[in-house]
Amino acid sequence: MGKFPIADEALLRVWVCRKCKARNKPGVLKCRKCGSKYMRAKRKESRVKK
Ligand SMILES: [Zn+2]
Repeated sequence: MGKFPIADEALLRVWVCRKCKARNKPGVLKCRKCGSKYMRAKRKESRVKK
């Protein structure tokens, strides 16, 4: 992607709450901010299927 693969990876490893758009760690079941379960991975391809 860019010149900084580490930064890209860090960005892609983030989950974004669909409700409040807070960034969460991947793997969390609920948003840490609003508790919503509507999370999406900030990633183009889903590498890990759940
Ligand atoms: Zn949220």
